[in-house]
Amino acid sequence: MSECLFCAIGEGKVPANRMYQDDSIVAFKDITPRAPVHILIIPRKHIASVADISEADRVLIGRIFEVAAQLARDQGIADRGYRIVVNSGADAGQSVFHLHYHLLGGRPMSWPPG
Ligand code: AMP
Ligand code: ZN
Repeated sequence: MSECLFCAIGEGKVPANRMYQDDSIVAFKDITPRAPVHILIIPRKHIASVADISEADRVLIGRIFEVAAQLARDQGIADRGYRIVVNSGADAGQSVFHLHYHLLGGRPMSWPPG
C-alpha cells in the first residue's frame, strides 16, 4: 500500500502535523482546513472506505470515536459542539481512499451539508 497517502502518513514516510498516535490510530491536521479545528483521524491499517470495514474492525472503529471525542476536548471545542464526517464514495466527495474521520469544529456549521 506504499502508494496510499494516508498509509504513508501512518508509517511516517510522509510528514504530517500529528495530534495523536497510538498502535492502531493516527490523527493529524488536515492540510486544507475547512474549520478552525480540522483534524483527520485514521486507522494505521489500510481500509479503503466505510464499505470496506469488517467485523474485525469493530474495536478499532469504536476507538476512533473515543480519540475524536478526546481531541475535541483537548482542542476546547467539546462544549460548543463539533462535527465528525466520513465521506464515502464519489457522491460524498471522498478523495483519499484510506478511511478517515474529519473532526471539524470551532465555528457554527450549517445543515444540511453541501
Ligand atoms: P476526503 O475528501 O473526505 O477524502 O478528505 C481528504 C482530506 O485529506 C481533505 O480534507 C484534504 O485536505 C486532506 N489531505 C490531503 N492530503 C493531505 C496531507 N498530505 N496531509 C493532510 N491532509 C491531507
Ligand atoms: Zn492506506
